[in-house]
Amino acid sequence: MDYLDISLQLSEDDIAIKNAAHEFAEEIMRPAAKALDEMSAEDGVAKKSPLWPFLKKSYELGYHRILLPEAYGGLSLSPLQLNLVLEEWGWGSMGLGVLLGVAAFPFFAIALTGDDELIEKYVIPFCECTDGSIRGCWCGTEPEHGSDILYFDDFFKNPKIKGNVQARLKGDSWIINGQKSAWVSGGTIATHGLTFLQVDPSKGMAGGGVCVVPLDKGVSRGKPLEKIGQRDLNQSEVFFDDTKIPANHMITEPDYYPEMVDLILGAANAAMSALATGVARAAFEEALVYARERVQGGVPITKHTSVRQRLFDMFAKVEACRALSRAVFNFNFNVSPPVTEYSIAAKTRCTQTCFEVTHEAIQILGGNGLAREYLVEKIFRDARASLVEDGLNEMLAAAGGLTITETYPRKSSDIY
Ligand SMILES: Cc1cc2nc3c(=O)[nH]c(=O)nc-3n(C[C@H](O)[C@H](O)[C@H](O)COP(=O)(O)OP(=O)(O)OC[C@H]3O[C@@H](n4cnc5c(N)ncnc54)[C@H](O)[C@@H]3O)c2cc1C
Repeated sequence: MDYLDISLQLSEDDIAIKNAAHEFAEEIMRPAAKALDEMSAEDGVAKKSPLWPFLKKSYELGYHRILLPEAYGGLSLSPLQLNLVLEEWGWGSMGLGVLLGVAAFPFFAIALTGDDELIEKYVIPFCECTDGSIRGCWCGTEPEHGSDILYFDDFFKNPKIKGNVQARLKGDSWIINGQKSAWVSGGTIATHGLTFLQVDPSKGMAGGGVCVVPLDKGVSRGKPLEKIGQRDLNQSEVFFDDTKIPANHMITEPDYYPEMVDLILGAANAAMSALATGVARAAFEEALVYARERVQGGVPITKHTSVRQRLFDMFAKVEACRALSRAVFNFNFNVSPPVTEYSIAAKTRCTQTCFEVTHEAIQILGGNGLAREYLVEKIFRDARASLVEDGLNEMLAAAGGLTITETYPRKSSDIY
């Protein structure tokens, strides 16, 4: 039930892509997400879990390739098309949307390097995969370092701060040891990890590197994490025990590490804004449908002015999220490197608004809003998780705040 889309520049292709993504979200994502939400985290990744047919179907439809260029077998979507698909995924399920996004992460990062050998070895087989058997994840957060991996203060360069995962060069291989936190999305089932780690402890967190690690030999996982929201998104610790990767798998070393953190954050935060817009829209729609049917005072509650005002406020918030998210996609996926403070603005604003809209949806449904039987109960929990996910909103704001206080007013000639 999408309302009028006021972007007049949507082409027929764009609309077809959006409609197909909506069908996928409604028919494939939502049923799988509902089933997974109700299962234990362990059952959610077991052999008979609905997760596996969901992944297979997603890969068959090519949705794992949305971030990748056509030259390597990707879908080469325009920034706007990418945004449209992610909004629909968010409408279907934020958790499963994130799972599909991180599945592509290591391959997206390799594609950015332009390294032919790595592209041949990893990106092309990933794009050709149609059964969901090649799955990436992002191994960033560590037991002792969550917000520490964001560059928003001088402590980033403090040599006393030691990473929980470190790599040392031995001959022509890197040897990796340590543990990532329980928050690695898709970590339970991933075959490859885009791994952030410390390679030069003398530089503190700034002495980081980014590498691609096949998660087979020398790697183990923790138990799937039980949590309040996005329960359809499996997460677990990843342990590295003398894990060996060839030297060229370290795609970023300390010289470019802060830039790489920025680049990944710029892309991921933008993606989060579109997903959150979809979640907010889903909550608004659920509230509207319910309010048309629920009778109080002898009339449907939509006849009460205060309910209409609240529904309109939700509607306006969804439109504001969509406008900001699309504008940031259009900009940041067309400039290189992305101007990360805009992606941060979109992520923090859209997830916060999404939380407010899902909160209001519960209020519109009254007691039923709290019942498992109604979708808003799940999406409210999912929205809550998004305030922490991909960087706590207040910490992202601190990172964005550092940039704007140092660089404002920024000229377009500084960027292009
Ligand atoms: C659904 C979900 C999916 C996720 N997916 C992934 C993933 O795929 N890969 C991955 O690596 N991680 C993932 N994460 C982890 C996420 O990025 C971290 O949880 C987040 O960055 C916060 O880190 P933390 O939980 O360690 O909190 P902390 O950083 O420990 O923060 C705790 C509190 O301390 C405050 N604080 C921290 N540092 C400072 C400071 N310097 N100054 C002032 N206050 C401070 C914060 O504001 C917060 O209130 C995911 C998280 C969620 C919820």
